[in-house]
Amino acid sequence: MLEKILREGKRVYWCPSCNVPLLSGFCESCGSRGFVVRSTPPSDLRPAFRADLERIWSAARELFNEEYDFLVPRDQVVLLNKIPYPDAGDEVIVSGYIVAHVFFDLKLFRWRFKPMYAGVHRMVEEEMGYYALVDLPKLARGFVVHKGDIVKSHLPERKGVYVALRTVNGKFYALGERLPGSRIKVIKSWRRRSYNLSSRASTWDEAVRCNRDYINWLEREAIDFIKDLSRKGFEGIYVSFSGGKDSLASYLITEKALGGVPILFNDTGIEMPETVEYVNMFAERTGVELISADAGDRFWAGLEVFGPPARDYRWCCKIVKLAPIIRAFREKYGLSKVLSIVGQRRYESFARFRSPRVWRNRWIPSLLSASPINDWTALDVWLYLFLNRATVNPLYEAGFDRLGCFLCPACEVAEFEAVRKLHPELWEKWERVLSSYALGKGLGDKWVRYGLWRWRRIPGDISRELRIDNRLMGYDRGVKVMLSKVEEREGCSTYRFRINSDRLSYAFLPMLGRATIDGDFLRIDRRDASIVIDLRDRRYTVCSSETDELAIDVLRLIVRSTLCISCGLCTNWCPSGALRIDDRGLIFNSDKCTGCLICNKYCPICKFLEIKLDKNMEKVNKI
Ligand SMILES: [Zn+2]
Repeated sequence: MLEKILREGKRVYWCPSCNVPLLSGFCESCGSRGFVVRSTPPSDLRPAFRADLERIWSAARELFNEEYDFLVPRDQVVLLNKIPYPDAGDEVIVSGYIVAHVFFDLKLFRWRFKPMYAGVHRMVEEEMGYYALVDLPKLARGFVVHKGDIVKSHLPERKGVYVALRTVNGKFYALGERLPGSRIKVIKSWRRRSYNLSSRASTWDEAVRCNRDYINWLEREAIDFIKDLSRKGFEGIYVSFSGGKDSLASYLITEKALGGVPILFNDTGIEMPETVEYVNMFAERTGVELISADAGDRFWAGLEVFGPPARDYRWCCKIVKLAPIIRAFREKYGLSKVLSIVGQRRYESFARFRSPRVWRNRWIPSLLSASPINDWTALDVWLYLFLNRATVNPLYEAGFDRLGCFLCPACEVAEFEAVRKLHPELWEKWERVLSSYALGKGLGDKWVRYGLWRWRRIPGDISRELRIDNRLMGYDRGVKVMLSKVEEREGCSTYRFRINSDRLSYAFLPMLGRATIDGDFLRIDRRDASIVIDLRDRRYTVCSSETDELAIDVLRLIVRSTLCISCGLCTNWCPSGALRIDDRGLIFNSDKCTGCLICNKYCPICKFLEIKLDKNMEKVNKI
């Protein structure tokens, strides 16, 4: 259903005479009707930039040698469309047709060029690269073509290389792969279709000319949207600026609607240097106020506690994004009613597809977020930026499509390889961290090389591709503590705990009640309970009507006190203002604290904390 909406939602067309993509069904320059570009949903098509093309050509050399630009010409606009592969993969669209896939082959550890549809068609018809005409009635996936079936061919020496196939009757085309002994295995086949690969040169400037009215109409609608929204009584309006293309487009729209407004940039501390430079340059050139949020080195502090982040273990976003953004927001706007313009788009992914255009921030109730470009595709954004001659982050030209933290576990290995090439020192620092972590846990070097740290549970297609034993490689990360009850009598229970830390802190324990030190014991008294902590030993006694539940709260506070990385998230929710961050870390004011323990709920350490209880205790491990 979602695919259907996406397929019919926003199509991209192609002008056969100007040889450029069209955002609407017809060409504003020559008046031609465009044909629909067929691509895999969610079809967030984007231009291939110089570095993308170089990467594609270098992969295509294997098939075409000197004429490496046979299918992807040097003088035409080319589109890319992200598709699922075990690692990075794109459809390559030329003349409005898919001519190839390029994908990062994890086993060979390099990009490969895989001719498809229009590309295969052209290879066979023009006898370029590796091809074979076969005397078979049809071709089907998985079928093996033998030497005797081949009528005419140019076959590669090496096995595994791609071969374009066609039946002699002209009804079927296929992509095959060379096997030993002159055999070819069919990977993908399809019935004949017609493709008209154009030889007309084209540029992005022409593409802009062919779509100008449509882009202006998109902009007009977005400007009106921002204008209408801005009249709803906000005390502040700013643009969330990441340094990427979408936030740039949102800024330009907002500037046209309202004039310059401040931009908020969050430096996660693990940005690409180009992004930080670009944002500073942008603020300087436009003269707008730059609201800086900064995570400092909290990622590295968090790493000590949590271990490497993973797609299914994203402790990092809270600490390097959410916490500093809230902090910067509060400093600038306090509790005012504020509108944040963001460059979020629903075509970015299936997960985003149902996102509304305006929403209330989950974490800051006085903040409303709105995306003027929610319904735009990447191509809409790019043509808009081209039309406005906007200066984009140089990383796009360098072949990066997704900007953000350079070690984000959502990235593909191919993207990490691009980071390594551009900033070896940055990547090597991270790789040393991973290697020493892997060594300590006995994880082997595949874990680092293939980016397997990006999952707690490694997905099936990756483990199949790399032939990894899932059970061996999938291991648990996180903060683990053991709690066992060693004694229980007359409403008092004594507990022992184990935690992987040499030093312990009890700084936050007074949140539970009035604290007094008595020799080697820390005593906490509250109306309904008392707690005595043995400071020499990892044990404590709780006297209360619900000892197990209170014992777990005690343990959570010991873990928090011991491992706190001063992310400051808890300070935003403390209803009595008893928590704040300063140079020394998290400061807790026991005079103000009411003991509500709401801060436990928002602490990332508590969120990822696994408390293993011994069998004497009930299951009460819920926050
Ligand atoms: Zn045209």
